[in-house]
Formats: sequence, C-alpha cells, structure tokens
Amino acid sequence: MALKVYNTLSRKLETFKPIKKGKIGIYACGPTVYNFVHIGNLRAYIFYDLVRKYFLLKKFNVNFVSNITDIDDKSIRDSQKQGISLKKFTEKYTKAYLEDLKTLNIQLPDKAPKATDYIPQMIALTKKLLKNKHAYKSGKSYYYKIDTFKDYGKIARLDNLDQLKKNAEGRLHDADEYEKDDVRDFVLWKGYDKEDGDVFWETDLGKGRPGWHIECSVMSSDLLGDTFDMHLGGVDLIFPHHTNEIAQSEAASGAKFVNYWLHNEHLLVDEKKMSKSLNNFYTLRDLIKKGHDPKAIRYLLLATHYRQKLNFTFDGLEAAKNSVTKIQEFVRNISFSKNPKSVPKVKTISENAKKEFELKLEDDFNISSALAVVFDFMRDINKLTISKNDSKIVLETMYFFNEILGVIEKPKKETLTKNIKSLIDSREKARKDQDWDTADKIRDQLKEKGIILDDAPEGVRWKKV
Ligand code: AMP
Ligand code: ZN
Repeated sequence: MALKVYNTLSRKLETFKPIKKGKIGIYACGPTVYNFVHIGNLRAYIFYDLVRKYFLLKKFNVNFVSNITDIDDKSIRDSQKQGISLKKFTEKYTKAYLEDLKTLNIQLPDKAPKATDYIPQMIALTKKLLKNKHAYKSGKSYYYKIDTFKDYGKIARLDNLDQLKKNAEGRLHDADEYEKDDVRDFVLWKGYDKEDGDVFWETDLGKGRPGWHIECSVMSSDLLGDTFDMHLGGVDLIFPHHTNEIAQSEAASGAKFVNYWLHNEHLLVDEKKMSKSLNNFYTLRDLIKKGHDPKAIRYLLLATHYRQKLNFTFDGLEAAKNSVTKIQEFVRNISFSKNPKSVPKVKTISENAKKEFELKLEDDFNISSALAVVFDFMRDINKLTISKNDSKIVLETMYFFNEILGVIEKPKKETLTKNIKSLIDSREKARKDQDWDTADKIRDQLKEKGIILDDAPEGVRWKKV
C-alpha cells in the first residue's frame, strides 16, 4: 500500500507522490517567539515529527524546514516593555523552543530560518508582486491585492469573498489598514510607525518591517524551491496565513506552490482551543515542574489522530504515563529472557507487526491504530516463553516502533565491578543452599552500594540506582 494523506486543498484522501523519487521537502509553520511555547503548539510540532519520522522510517531523503517568526506586533510590544532589544528578546524564546523540542524527543528541523534573516528576499518578492500588479503601495505600506489572484481563498473554501469583506471590516483596528484599496487586502511591507521604536529596516521600499505571511513564502522557496511536496501547520493557519502564502507564492512564480497541505487539529482545554490569548495554557516547563514525565506528554500529544481535536486533562496525561510505562517495562523485561529454546513464531509475529504498523501509518498517519498494533504485539509476545535470541528480534521490533513513538530509552550498557559480581554470585550460592540469612545480608550490602536485586523466575537481575 502507498501512503494516503488528507490534502486540505482537495479535502480528500490522496495517494502521496513525491516530486523526486525517494525525496521529500516539507515546510512547517513554526512558533512566534515571544513567550515559551505551550503544549498546544507542541501538539503541532509532535505532528510534524510524526510525518517527518514516517518518511525517515521509509528511508526518504527528508528536507524539513520550520521557520521561526522573530518579529511581529507581540514580540515588538513585549521586548519594549522589558526594555531589551527585539533580537535579545526573541533569542531567549528561540533557545527555549529548541530546548522544548529536544525535551519531547522531537527531531530539530534541518533548517530553522528566522524571518529577520530574510528581509532582502521579502523586499525582492514584494517588488516582483508590484511589477506584476498583484501588489500596490498605499500610504507608507505595500499591500497584496487579493482580487488579482484568481484562486484566492481556494484552500480555505472561501467561496463568498463578500463575507470575508464583512468579517474584515469587523476586525479593522489599525489606522494604517484604512489605507488599503480593499479591506480584504493584506500587508506585505508595513511602513514605519513610531510604535515600532527601533525595529525597522531601511530598504528600497522605504523604512519599515515585513508583514506576517511573506516570510513563509520567501523562506520556503529559498530552501525548498518554488514548488515543493508538503506544507504542515495547525488548522487555524488555513485562513488567512496559508491562503495568503499561496496567493503570494503562486502570483510570483506562476507555479503551483505546494502539492500536499496537511493541517493538525487543536489541543483543547475544556473544549476551547489552548492559546495564549485565552490564558488557558500549560507550557511544557509548567508540566515538568509539576513532576510530569516528558515521555508521557509526548505520548499524549502523539496518540490521537492529528485530524481529531484532543481535550487536555490530567487524567489523560496519567493514562498516557501508564501506556508509556507498559511499553518501557515490556522492553526491560524482554531483555532478561533466558529460555534456551527459540520459538519459531517470534520472527513471523515481529515481521507482521512491523508491516501492520507501517500500514496503519500509511492510512493518513493513523497513529492510534498503529499504537494498537504495538500493544497487540506486546500481548502476543507476553504469551510466549522466548529465548535470548528471540528477545533480540523482539527488541529490534520495539526499537523500530520507537523510531516514531520516541518513548523508549535504549538501555545504557552498564557493567559491574568484579567485587559486586562476586557478591551476587555468593548470594546466589547462599540461596541455592537455602541459607536465607546470608542471602539477605548480601542483598543489603549490595543495596548500600547502589545495586538493587530482583529475583525473577528466569534468574536474578540487577539495576543501579
Ligand atoms: P503560533 O505561535 O500561535 O503561530 O502557533 C505555532 C503553531 O502551533 C501553528 O502551527 C499553530 O497552528 C499551532 N497551534 C497553536 N495553538 C494550538 C493548539 N491549541 N493546538 C494545536 N496546535 C496549535
Ligand atoms: Zn507560515
């Protein structure tokens, strides 16, 4: 079976075909770095990670680009409040964002371009749009004229552009915005306003700063080409952000911008979108401070299909923690199998499970079904008494799943000193001789040295604490 994805452009499941065989270019909208990201944002980044790791599992050559919006109204406003430069302010939150990705075992982007590093390219794109009459100047700013773009709003199913006009009129707040020919037009380059303080660039288009949407058009074409395979983001970005990205990019290049658009649903709290503006959010740092395990948080955000809304609760987090523990304990226990006889079924069960797991992911990244395959696999294996060799096959299968799940720590190879080894052997001998007093004494001695023993049916196990 081939990968099927739900393409927002067509509102249908489509079979994925890359532009170049074995390669994929992915662009995903990243954070606006004016605060710590919350776990709603992280749901989007976990979804990006799932998509990317699926392609890596299938041995694709993946080029994954995710931008950092280091300039916007909020970051300017908040850096001014704190009396520090915009650069210093956004650097702090960029660093925190990348740390949070690492904490959740999300692979860092291959490229994470910053908006402020792309000002010349944004000016060039605006000039191009002016030249081909998709843009105009009004007052000190430059705007995109949406009725010059035939398919404007197609991705958002904006059939009724008049409605958009009414909505836009309802939202008008900024004096600059009244300069537009049409309220639906959006800003490409914002002429300088004293509220922006020392945040401006002197350019051919005058002193000012970029609009929001233009960064993603220039960074994606620079790093992935005018047409690329896949664009990801949260559903809130379909309109206006992605609608405007398409209008800018396609009007400039004349080529199709993106082949597949995938959008993740929101993380909710009490049925409302988790967001900074509603102040109903948890940052990753909040949850870790409360003692929650990052692996459980990762699992919770991953385990629900990306096109379903997910309501965040602490019970849900607890359930995720239990699932992660089950997986981790299965892996830990399987390493101690000692039965000499191989069970021929283990290889077949493992191979089938791997195939099934991939098949589920190929169904529009159906992670919940893929997870069911993992739990069925563990249940089937637990019914068997398997050999050391079989356990290697089982472990290899679990690590295969973990390429996507990212919740199993590969055990560090720990060794024991000669002294400790001989203590364990002496205790084993005492146990065989039914000399329980000596056995208990040695156990206590080992405990003092940080070695905990566990008398499993297959033999004694140890762990360091
Ligand atoms: P922002 O920093 O608000 O521009 O958001 C960055 C990314 O996080 C975008 O892809 C958003 O769609 C996504 N996002 C924001 N809030 C949520 C949420 N509650 N659930 C899922 N994704 C979200
Ligand atoms: Zn974007």
